[in-house]
Amino acid sequence: MLHHMDWDSADDVLEVLTDEPLRTSESRQSKPRTSNISEAEFSCHCCYDILVNPTTLTCGHNFCRHCLALWWESSHKNECPECREKWEGFPKINILLRDATEKIFSEVVQRRRAEIQANTKISRSLLSFQRYGDKLGRSRTSQNKGAGFFFSGVLTALTCVVVSTTVN
Ligand SMILES: [Zn+2]
Ligand SMILES: [Zn+2]
Repeated sequence: MLHHMDWDSADDVLEVLTDEPLRTSESRQSKPRTSNISEAEFSCHCCYDILVNPTTLTCGHNFCRHCLALWWESSHKNECPECREKWEGFPKINILLRDATEKIFSEVVQRRRAEIQANTKISRSLLSFQRYGDKLGRSRTSQNKGAGFFFSGVLTALTCVVVSTTVN
């Protein structure tokens, strides 16, 4: 206990003696330093820019939706561009991440969105990626729900026919 206090007070003295100018410059630097970290954290590993419509894959990696669409179109593979893990189903936009990047880097995101919309090649691959997702979703629902609804519909129609014929 005593020992710990000694160490603490020695540290305080050291700070007062040597760190006075250093500490003020550190606190001045702390703001830009955290924003630097965020920028790296919120950047896409395909284009190395701020994520636009960040899309999370099964492996947990995030990419701009258009970067992923371009990669998917050129590689013809459902694989993560970074770790090559296959993704399941149709990758969705990470809404939390999208809203956060749009708030923090609103200027960059707006500029990049305009660039993406103006680029016909990117818009086209985004569209075909979306179509691929729609097809996946449709085949899945028709396999599970659609088939069941169809058969129950046929059954009720048949029982109606049976009932009406027996009554007549
Ligand atoms: Zn990107
Ligand atoms: Zn990955």
